[in-house]
Amino acid sequence: MHEPAISHLSAADPELAGLVEAEATRQYEKVRLIASENYVSTAVLEATGTVLTNKYSEGYAGKRYYEGQQVIDQVETLAIERAKALFGVDHANVQPYSGSPANLAVYMALANPGDTVMGMALPDGGHLTHGWGVSATGKWFNPVRYGVAKETGTVDLDQVRDLAREHRPKLIFCGGTAIPRTIDFPAFAEIAREVDAVLVADIAHIAGLVAGGAHPSPVGHAQITSTTTHKTLRGPRGAMVFSDAEYAKALDKAVFPGLQGGPHNHTTAAIAVSLGEAATPEFRVYAHAVVANAKALAAALLERGFDLVSGGTDNHLILVDLTSKGIGGKPAAQALDRAGIELNYNTVPFDPRKPFDPSGIRLGTAAITTRGLDVDLMPKVAEWMDGAVTAAGAGDEAAIERIAAEIRELLAGYPMPGYTA
Ligand SMILES: *Cc1c(COP(=O)(O)O)cnc(C)c1O
Repeated sequence: MHEPAISHLSAADPELAGLVEAEATRQYEKVRLIASENYVSTAVLEATGTVLTNKYSEGYAGKRYYEGQQVIDQVETLAIERAKALFGVDHANVQPYSGSPANLAVYMALANPGDTVMGMALPDGGHLTHGWGVSATGKWFNPVRYGVAKETGTVDLDQVRDLAREHRPKLIFCGGTAIPRTIDFPAFAEIAREVDAVLVADIAHIAGLVAGGAHPSPVGHAQITSTTTHKTLRGPRGAMVFSDAEYAKALDKAVFPGLQGGPHNHTTAAIAVSLGEAATPEFRVYAHAVVANAKALAAALLERGFDLVSGGTDNHLILVDLTSKGIGGKPAAQALDRAGIELNYNTVPFDPRKPFDPSGIRLGTAAITTRGLDVDLMPKVAEWMDGAVTAAGAGDEAAIERIAAEIRELLAGYPMPGYTA
């Protein structure tokens, strides 16, 4: 059952309530390895479900366009102060609706359409909003893209420097969605300084690790940091943008009135709650456990003959090239889902296959670590993955069913925030 209980919803709209319960049960019974997902605490869930959703508050604390902000101003200020303290930044804007609009706000604050911008190519691990062609950021700006080196599978900083010198971009984005290794913020900062570009660190994936001291911080190196709040940071779906004092005004103006109307106050409240949680010693332990689990899972996968991009991981994320296993990413991901292991198919760098049927799968350990799974269980997870991939190749649905049943049995011993069994 969902927790907090959804009794009013069940009475008013049993059809929808049934779907919510079904999703809660699905999350309870799966080994959730999608690298961008997590389980938020019951406190964060409660904050998102409050009357704060009823209030319009365009503007910023003390400068709103609607009356009745006595409480909302305090909620948003609390979120901002917690973000500033946790990440050690001069300025924080907590209003962006999600990571993509947050990045768009960065462009709007610091660049004009047609300007040259630089980011990591999507197939190499970058995000759509770092100037990929189908994104508004790739259509409205002049994107230059760097990637990873073929031999190492890690960011090619020589290429970054060469491209930056040649194209002199206004903005350089570092960070991405499928980067299993530590991002070298000082190296990016040096390149950005040399070509007079503003460095933007997009820490959407690793924000929780940064907050918990399990990944170096971009603060002091990047003038702008953008992040989602719902990945390793374990907050509600939302985003934040941090900056040096110099860019504060431009960023705030870009978020509102540049791109958005009223902020989602219930989300802001839940962000404040999650930032409070992320400032605790328990969260530091969590962030380090996420990385320990990823390293243990990577080692166990390597032992079973899986080929990992860059050879392993430094963070929460693992990118697997399945070519050596003789199966594509999509059929593997679908079979793994049937086996109770949820992840996504993903392109790998220099992928010879098409994006809708790529060679790889991407996984992360943020959610299973929240659930309490530890390093001792990672060889078992790798065994299940290997079994499911092999069974998929052999068309052995019975084996896949057996794995799903074993997983349900194991997970019954690991409580899920937001659910009572
Ligand atoms: C997830 C992600 C985003 C976008 O976040 P949404 O909330 O999905 O819009 C932006 N940048 C990076 C690096 C991400 O991983």
